[in-house]
Amino acid sequence: MRILLVEDDDRIAGDVARALDAAGYVVARAKNGEDAWFLGDTEDFTAIVLDLGLPGMDGLAVLKRWRGSGRATPVLVLTARGSWSERVEGIDAGADDYLAKPFQMEELLARLRSIIRRSAGHASSLATIGELALDERAMKVTLGGAPVDLSPLEYRLVAYLMLRRGKVVSQQELVENVYGQDEQSSNAIEVLIARVRRKLGSKWIETRRGFGYLMPERVA
Ligand code: CA
Repeated sequence: MRILLVEDDDRIAGDVARALDAAGYVVARAKNGEDAWFLGDTEDFTAIVLDLGLPGMDGLAVLKRWRGSGRATPVLVLTARGSWSERVEGIDAGADDYLAKPFQMEELLARLRSIIRRSAGHASSLATIGELALDERAMKVTLGGAPVDLSPLEYRLVAYLMLRRGKVVSQQELVENVYGQDEQSSNAIEVLIARVRRKLGSKWIETRRGFGYLMPERVA
């Protein structure tokens, strides 16, 4: 899952980027409003963390432009401490949730998981398909109650497909959301899918030739 992190403060951005990476997300960063708007408008992200106080175009203007052009990516805004007017403006402009600075990293991660789930139409941090269960909080996958030993890349792949269960996901989308900016061939995804199928069994990930991969919503 790819997150766009928009924050001009290098210290805060570094802390957040490390926490997101450790939580299994692929992170792209923008330091000003213009870059943020361009990235959010031209690339696909699972969610966006948007600081409102930015040099140049401010965060609120960026958010309004995204929403104005129909971009529905879930957005968590970061506001200055105690600024209720920023919070109200942010929500009015189309933010899905907000967090006031300073914040605890655990709270940022929890709010992010929540807006991502809601945008995918799920209400719980536990996703299940038959015997297969994903616990996003614990970053664990279990099969019939037994933990499955997955590498970080394998986990990212399974989590991404499970949160989109019932939908076909293209190889390109998987490359972007599992590997991030690194150039990876579609070969790498095929190898990763094969490894995951060996660990879980082959029925959980279906191949749709020419379109991509699908985790079914129900497995017999
Ligand atoms: Ca700022």
